[in-house]
Amino acid sequence: VESEKIFEIGKDFSHSKASSVEEADLVLINSCAVTERAVKKLCGLIKNLKKKNPICKIAVTGCAVDYDNKKIKLAGADYVVSNFSKLDIFDSINADEDSVIPIDQKEFFQEAKAADKEKHTRAFLKIQDGCDAFCSYCIIPFLRGEPVSMEQDKCINEMKELIKDGYKEIVPVGIHVGKFGQDTESKSSLYTLMKAASDIEGEFRIRMTSIETNELTGELIDLVKSTDKICSHFHIPLQSGSTDILKKMNRRYTADEYILNAKKIKQKIPNATIGADVIVGFPGETEEHFNETVSTIKDSDIDFLHVFQYSDRPGTKASNMPDKISGVVKAERARILRALGDELKIRALERQVGLKHRVLAEKDNKGFTDNYFTVKLNLSAKRNEFVNVKIRGVNEDGSLSGDII
Ligand code: SF4
Repeated sequence: VESEKIFEIGKDFSHSKASSVEEADLVLINSCAVTERAVKKLCGLIKNLKKKNPICKIAVTGCAVDYDNKKIKLAGADYVVSNFSKLDIFDSINADEDSVIPIDQKEFFQEAKAADKEKHTRAFLKIQDGCDAFCSYCIIPFLRGEPVSMEQDKCINEMKELIKDGYKEIVPVGIHVGKFGQDTESKSSLYTLMKAASDIEGEFRIRMTSIETNELTGELIDLVKSTDKICSHFHIPLQSGSTDILKKMNRRYTADEYILNAKKIKQKIPNATIGADVIVGFPGETEEHFNETVSTIKDSDIDFLHVFQYSDRPGTKASNMPDKISGVVKAERARILRALGDELKIRALERQVGLKHRVLAEKDNKGFTDNYFTVKLNLSAKRNEFVNVKIRGVNEDGSLSGDII
């Protein structure tokens, strides 16, 4: 979302998109620091770009700048611009200087929305930034600061604008959306926002992003059940299925609580889907802990699994923990969970056969169901229109086939 916003601002500075790296005068990189690999890849990318086009200027912004701007300069970046002044990146470039802001001097919520109707039927709206949960493995709270939200009324007005512009799916995004509203004067919440969004007139749907299980309340689940304006697809990070490891991770729920909430969703909304992130190889994760994770995943009836190997981030609590897990063991555990993830996805796909879905058509006669499956349609459908579809079968590429009814 923020990258698109930067691109839009660039137009005001008379920049336009270059057709290739070789032809670019300036390359902007919006970086990530969530894993060690992300920062390594960033440095490799900068070196590669400089080889391809030695005279172009490279400006880097995003979390990696606040994490280690020296490393990025060393890799060859001409400008580094703190995450907190990323929307002023062109001012830094014009002034020919870096802009590195210490975390305690960060300013405000930077509004951003990504909406390019030519490319997408879906619009992203940034409603929240920052996190103070300090999960022991996570560097984000150090880089993005305290939770900050946009006022609920403003979010609703922005959504209405997007709907008026013809968007049929809106994705409110943030670093920790479950904390939405708590810092605002109106003391709104994710529930009050979703309730107000579902009351907006028009033909559209809202797709929620990641929510922590302890912030996914019964009233929010009931709201999703009661309306077709909020997609029945929940992304609920699990991270570990072992209560011992969850405690060491400073997560605020037990494995049993996670299972209970997942079951509640499936009981109330039988065709809802659940996606989850899991980290394997957290320091001290034994074979027994890992097996508990496998059981928790199975018991929670998760449909989409995203598996990550633990990545050590110096500066976090976990980085100083003993009993680090070897790369070989982490890779093997990730392999096992990815295989389980494939099985779960196939099961979820097969459950859709024979069901009716409302699909938002995109290009090439494909579209998405509200519970987040890709459907290949039998007939051509107008892009950005909802069509009612009966699911005929499962395709080898992990999509569904559907007949328009
Ligand atoms: S909730 Fe935990 S994992 Fe998510 S951003 Fe905050 S600290 Fe990181």
